[in-house]
Amino acid sequence: MPENKRINLSKTDTPMPVADPKDRINTFDEVEIGYTDALAKQEALRCLDCKHKPCVSGCPVGIDIPSFIKCIVNDDIDKANDILSKSSALPAVCGRVCPQEKQCQAKCVRGKNGDPVAIGKLERYAADNCTDKKIQIPKNNGCKIAVIGSGPSGITCARELAIMGYKVTIYEALHSPGGVMTYGIPEFRLPRDILDKEIHNLSELGVSIQTNVVIGKTFSIDELMSKMEYKAVYISTGAGTPKFMEIPGETLPGVYSANEFLTRINLMHAYSSKYDTPIMQPKRTVVIGGGNVAMDAARCAVRLNSDVTVVYRRSEEDMPARKEEILHAKEEGVKFQFLSQPIRIHDKNGKISCVECNKMKYTTSTASSVKKLSKAGDETFFIETDCVIIAIGSCVNSIIKENSTGVDFDASGKIIANAETMQTSKPGVYAGGDAVTGSATVILAMEAGKKAAMNIHKDLMEKGEVFV
Ligand code: FAD
Ligand code: SF4
Ligand code: SF4
Repeated sequence: MPENKRINLSKTDTPMPVADPKDRINTFDEVEIGYTDALAKQEALRCLDCKHKPCVSGCPVGIDIPSFIKCIVNDDIDKANDILSKSSALPAVCGRVCPQEKQCQAKCVRGKNGDPVAIGKLERYAADNCTDKKIQIPKNNGCKIAVIGSGPSGITCARELAIMGYKVTIYEALHSPGGVMTYGIPEFRLPRDILDKEIHNLSELGVSIQTNVVIGKTFSIDELMSKMEYKAVYISTGAGTPKFMEIPGETLPGVYSANEFLTRINLMHAYSSKYDTPIMQPKRTVVIGGGNVAMDAARCAVRLNSDVTVVYRRSEEDMPARKEEILHAKEEGVKFQFLSQPIRIHDKNGKISCVECNKMKYTTSTASSVKKLSKAGDETFFIETDCVIIAIGSCVNSIIKENSTGVDFDASGKIIANAETMQTSKPGVYAGGDAVTGSATVILAMEAGKKAAMNIHKDLMEKGEVFV
C-alpha cells in the first residue's frame, strides 16, 4: 500500500486507556495502562514521516522519532526499540515521565492543526513491548571512570561510556539506584519493574553500581582520582535537599518535606503492610506547591485515604505541573486552593490543627512575562488539616561542596560546569543534571549525561589515555 494511503488524518490523538479513578485511588498500580497494539498502530499512522524531522530537534537526546514510529506501523517493535536505545538509556521511563508537550511534541507538525503525534506514548509502547533487546557487550578499553549518583544523568553518562568501552562504576548514596525515579516519582506513574529493567541493561553492559556509598564521606573525589585511579569523574548528585517556607509551625510533627514523604512511600514502601516504614495516616492533608512534586505528594496522600487540598500561591494556569498530572489529581479527588499563600501552621496541644493562608492577587497584567503577586487583603483564612507536605522546590546537597577541592559552585550551591562540555573547574571532573541546573527534568539530566560522556571520551583521546 502506498505510504500516503496509510496515514491517519485524525486531528485528535489516540487516547491512552487509564484505570478508573474509583479503583486506582486504592492502589499504587500504574494509572495509565498503555496502548494496545491496535491503538499504537492507529496513533503511529498519524505520523507524516516528515523529511526534516522537526520533532527530533525537540528531543534533548536526539531520538530518530519518525524512524521508530515507522517501525511501529510496520509491526517491527524490536527494531523500534533498537532505534530508541541508540539514543536513550531510558525509553520506557521517558515515554512515561518526559514533558513531551514541551519537548518533541511541541515541534510536531501535526500540532499546528490538531494534536501532535503522541510520541511519548508510542515510545513507551515500543519500549514495553520489545521482546528481543540486543545488548552488545563492548570491548573494554582499560580506562576507569567514576560516576557519582545513579539518577537519569548518571545512568546516561555511564551507559554512553560503557558502550565506548570504558569500565564505569556508579557510586550511589542510597541503597537502591535510580535517583528521583526511584525515591520520588510514585509507582502509579513509573512502576519499579519498568525502571529496574532499564537499570538492569546497564549491568549487562558491564557498569558496576555500588550503593550505600556517599562520595564526600566514604571517599572523596580526590581519592577516586588518585588512589582509585579513575581517569575522570562525573558528578550527577541531583538536587535532593528540600526547601522550606520558614513560616511558624513548620517544625511541628506531621509536617513533611515532599522529599521525605515521597521517599518513605516510594523507596521504603510505607504504604505496604509488608514493610515497617512508619508514615502518618492523615485524615486531612494540605500539600503546599504547584509542581509535579506537589501532584505526586497529593496523589500519594489520596492513596493513604486522606482528604487532600493543594494550596498554591498562583493560579491554575500558572501551575508548573504537567496538565495531565493535574487532571489525574482532580479525577482522584484532590482539591485545589489557588492564589493562596500559607503564612502559619497552627496546632492544638502539639498536633497540627490548620494552615492559615493569605489570599493573593496578581499585581501585573497577564500580558507581563513575570506576574507579580501581592496580598489580596488583610483577612486570612484557615484550612483544617492534620498533616502538611511542603513541595516548594529543592536545592543541591552540600556534601560534595564541603568535601572536595577545586570544584567551583555558584552562590546557591549548584556546581558550575560548562553548558556544552559539562567540564567543571577541576581537570578531569565533569558535572550535570539537577546538581548543575537545579531541579529540572529527567530528559535534560540525560542530555547532560550524554554530553559529559562524549567530552570525557574526547578529552581522554586527546590526552592519549585511550585510542578508539
Ligand atoms: P537525581 O535523579 O536526583 O539523582 C541523583 C542521585 O545521586 C540520587 O540517587 C542521590 O541519592 C545520589 N547522590 C546524591 N549525593 C550523592 C553523593 N554524595 N554520593 C553518592 N550519591 C549521591 N522530571 C520529569 O522529567 N518528569 C516528571 O514527571 C518528574 N517528576 C518528578 C517528581 C518528583 C517527586 C521529583 C522530586 C522530581 C521529578 N522530576 C520529573 C524531576 C527529575 O526527576 C529530575 O530532574 C531528575 O531525576 C534529575 O536527575 P539527576 O540524575 O540529575 O539527579
Ligand atoms: Fe520526546 Fe522525551 Fe522521547 Fe525525546 S525522550 S522523543 S523528548 S518523549
Ligand atoms: Fe511525525 Fe510529527 Fe515528527 Fe512529522 S513532526 S515526523 S508528523 S512526529
